[in-house]
Amino acid sequence: MKKLIVLVFFVMLGYGCGSSKALIAADSTPMTVAIDLVNIVEDKVLVTMDPGAFQEDTVLFYIPKIIPGTYSEDNYGRYIEGFKALDYKGNELQFNKEDENTWRISNGKNLDKVSYLVNDTYDSENEVKEAVFSPAGTNILDDKNFVLNLHGFVGYFKGLKEVPYEISINRPAHLAATTSLKERKTEGSETNVDLFLANRYFEVIDSPIQYTEPTTETFQIKDISVTLSVYSPNGTYTASSLKDRMEEMMTAQKTFLGDIDGTKEYNILLYLSSMEPTDATGFGALEHHTSTVVVLPETISKERLEQAMVDVVSHEFFHIVTPLNIHSEEIQYFDFNDPKMSEHLWMYEGTTEYFANIFQIQQGLIEEEEFYKRIMDKTNNAKAYDDDMSFTEMSRSILEEPYKKNYANVYEKGTLINMCLDIMLLEKSKGQKGVLWLMKELSKKYGAMTPFKDNELIDEIVAMTYPELRTFFDTHVIGNTPIDYNTYLARVGLTTKTVQKESGYFLDGDIPFIDVNQSEGNSIFVRRGIELNSFFNDLGAQGGDVIKSINDTAINLEAIRPIIGQSFQWSPETEIKMTVLRGEEEITLEGKVGTPVLQVETIVPLDDVSPDKTQLREVWLKG
Ligand SMILES: [Zn+2]
Repeated sequence: MKKLIVLVFFVMLGYGCGSSKALIAADSTPMTVAIDLVNIVEDKVLVTMDPGAFQEDTVLFYIPKIIPGTYSEDNYGRYIEGFKALDYKGNELQFNKEDENTWRISNGKNLDKVSYLVNDTYDSENEVKEAVFSPAGTNILDDKNFVLNLHGFVGYFKGLKEVPYEISINRPAHLAATTSLKERKTEGSETNVDLFLANRYFEVIDSPIQYTEPTTETFQIKDISVTLSVYSPNGTYTASSLKDRMEEMMTAQKTFLGDIDGTKEYNILLYLSSMEPTDATGFGALEHHTSTVVVLPETISKERLEQAMVDVVSHEFFHIVTPLNIHSEEIQYFDFNDPKMSEHLWMYEGTTEYFANIFQIQQGLIEEEEFYKRIMDKTNNAKAYDDDMSFTEMSRSILEEPYKKNYANVYEKGTLINMCLDIMLLEKSKGQKGVLWLMKELSKKYGAMTPFKDNELIDEIVAMTYPELRTFFDTHVIGNTPIDYNTYLARVGLTTKTVQKESGYFLDGDIPFIDVNQSEGNSIFVRRGIELNSFFNDLGAQGGDVIKSINDTAINLEAIRPIIGQSFQWSPETEIKMTVLRGEEEITLEGKVGTPVLQVETIVPLDDVSPDKTQLREVWLKG
């Protein structure tokens, strides 16, 4: 999974069954599922699930509470209503709803099928507490788009997770499916019903489907066939307009990975949000073995969208390495309703995000300077989280506080942990073996169907490599001692240093110092948790200040646009009066605008560095 923090300001500114079956035992007959995408009533989809015959009096039916890759309890059962359990004569059987995701059905021997209505998650993200992250969510947009993350639509019966599933989907005639699920085409069958097959429940939820107008693009990356499906509500983007950059990026990824066992098919399901209040707002993506669902705003520029796609899709594709091909028993035997969490998020998300950055510099998609900037950004972003928290402990307990609120650090400090490991490994092996080598070895040993024991992985890595890694893991990953990144950077002849650079008044390049609060009339506030420029600092502004007026003009999103435009013409002598609301207090800030500068920490080469360190840096950055 990869969550992107997209500044609203940025997006808003526009930058850019028959009774005979009763004889067949439930565990030897396929689960038949019917999903009706044509007869939508009040934005809900009817799902019918027909198992074989049960021998038990009590049958438990589940909709997942949590799915692999998300690390949060999302309770997909809360989107289900009108649940019915029917006997072979069509009479309703009694059931008890045990919790949000569990239905206990009595008189199970007579159970023929269950049916229920599914609500989608996208249009209620703003209303519900702890909304489902959009790439794991569902969309029902009658006649236009369906995002079928199937864990939101299809459940499972206790003891029947391993039976094959046959999913028939009645769809609008003009929409087509993109999915990794195998499709069975039968002659003479109804043309608007798609029939998909899965070997077991895991495969159902590992294979999302997007229905859109049929405008996909398919391209070949060596032996992998990649299909890009794009839903763009206003027609701003098409699969063909985004294909070239994806093809270039994934070719580079495949070159970086070299010989590693992977999929022969990969589907990118891109959903672009209109940014209306009833549309998706969780930007980023979720990984699957042979596909990914990506959600991004439609209102950003092509350059921004492509860069976001490069960063997000590369991350998801690298998940093929871990956790998909290197994972613990907790993941292999994932319990969708009572999961045990693995302690290795430093690897599942950290290594993945590290690869998604290092491959770009190694393959020439970004320059050295940009790579250093990304590492510096991750170092700074990591400061927002608890640096004294054991990473393995956080991972094991990620569903609970205070660990839960530190989750996003897996992308920040998780990356940096892997950078340190990579530098250590490369140094010790004289440039021969880095983290990629380590992951390849582990994936050869394990692979998609063979899990490792959670508490043995680190011992195993140490045994395969160098004792120094034992100390590093014990101190900084299992242990809770913060890492001094400069010690590791020094080993490749680098250090960090604070430099001053020019910025705009309201923006640093295209990154704003301000953001919009949509829920409060598009009011504008100074961003928190970032380094402000001298313009804001010298005026005395603070992060969180709500800008009420500038030079007596009341400020909201509309009103600030022309002022940002004018600011490019300001001279250092220009006077400004800004009224801000800080908590309850209204404060007037006045002064000259000055020349805006920003103090930034950057990574730079060390003076007088030995050639072996420079050489090691070359190997690290160029592969
Ligand atoms: Zn991820």
